[in-house]
Amino acid sequence: TTLEDTSIFATLESEVRSYSRSWPTVFHSASGSWIRAEDGRDYLDFFAGAGALNYGHNNPVLKQALVDYIVGDGITHSLDMSTVAKRRFLETFQRYILEPRGLDYKVQFPGPTGANTVEAALKLARKVTGRESIINFTNAFHGMTLGALSVTGNSMKRAGAGVPLVHATPMPFDNYFDGATEDFHWFERVLDDSGSGLNRPAAVIVETVQGEGGVNVARPEWVRALAELCRSRGILLIVDDVQMGCGRTGPFFSFEIAGITPDIVTLSKSIGGYGLPMALTLLRPELDVWAPGEHNGTFRGNNPAFVTATAAIEQYWTDDTLERSTAAKGKRIAQIFANLSDQFPGVSTRGRGMVQGLVFDDPGRAVKVCGLAFDEGLLAETSGPSDEVVKLLPPLTITDAELDHGLSILAEATAKVCA
Ligand code: PMP
Repeated sequence: TTLEDTSIFATLESEVRSYSRSWPTVFHSASGSWIRAEDGRDYLDFFAGAGALNYGHNNPVLKQALVDYIVGDGITHSLDMSTVAKRRFLETFQRYILEPRGLDYKVQFPGPTGANTVEAALKLARKVTGRESIINFTNAFHGMTLGALSVTGNSMKRAGAGVPLVHATPMPFDNYFDGATEDFHWFERVLDDSGSGLNRPAAVIVETVQGEGGVNVARPEWVRALAELCRSRGILLIVDDVQMGCGRTGPFFSFEIAGITPDIVTLSKSIGGYGLPMALTLLRPELDVWAPGEHNGTFRGNNPAFVTATAAIEQYWTDDTLERSTAAKGKRIAQIFANLSDQFPGVSTRGRGMVQGLVFDDPGRAVKVCGLAFDEGLLAETSGPSDEVVKLLPPLTITDAELDHGLSILAEATAKVCA
């Protein structure tokens, strides 16, 4: 096959084009780091539900917890009633996630998705401060609802939405190549200058590593400088950990490396652990100004997700085994990627922990690499404003042998495309 013939370019003719991913096969079942298509072909999954499957597909421990719960007639839907499954989750989250990190947050269930928690965070920041606007960063991704889209720095994603709901001021996102903090000083001067006419914003929303934006990694110093800007000017800091939380970068929260405590944290994707919809908004206790019913929704009480979320924390977050293995595997990926970037001009690499990007100066090449990888039985997706980055998000539980297998497929695909 020629590169242009590779399957990723083909589309299923019968399928309505409602979703951007067009891997031309129909998937059937999945286990661990593998996903099986209807035709019996197995694919190694370096995409893992865009970060929703940090513990792999059908993780046996989580599956057992879920099966036991269902067999025991556990409540599946409870709106916001108190349930035993919810209480157990909250106790476990408090004991193993918040307390050991010295974090004092109220936990809100804002709705089932990442966009829901971002909406809750933006609304709360506006209500608490009585101010309207939000600062976001170039290439940020926060979700597809109108509020979350207003703070998303991607013109293609915004194109269909018309006038944004929230007034957002974008700032450049520095990654660790040129991670200067001068932009903050510049911004402080504009904020403090009454002649600028800039109203003080309610909040800043940031991903410490931009996932959809192309694996852009903020240096800890940069994150600290941002937190200081927020603190000194009374602006709330929202860290969107929907994709980078739950251990993706190593520690449970991506901001731990910077030693900061955000005012509000958004979590979703892997928090349910089993691919079940679940989201959390963490807020400093004094920010809880919600009136009853002010932010509600039918699917906030997903008890099966509470059960798998609890099992995931008990399995992976009572010690630092997962965090250490994530660091080691991340290094392994980074090393292979560094070799590729040494070997081929126009290829570079960046990442942290188990989110690693292989960056191509010629964006078409990243898409081709993913197409060739698919043909060899590997799922990997592109990210970045021009789809110039092959973004790896394997399950954190992947074995070393599986990781090496997938990396060798990617290395061969890269060599072919760059030949
Ligand atoms: N924030 C971030 C950082 C994300 O990566 C995403 C999803 N890619 C979202 C928010 C939105 O989550 P959801 O798709 O569940 O609405």
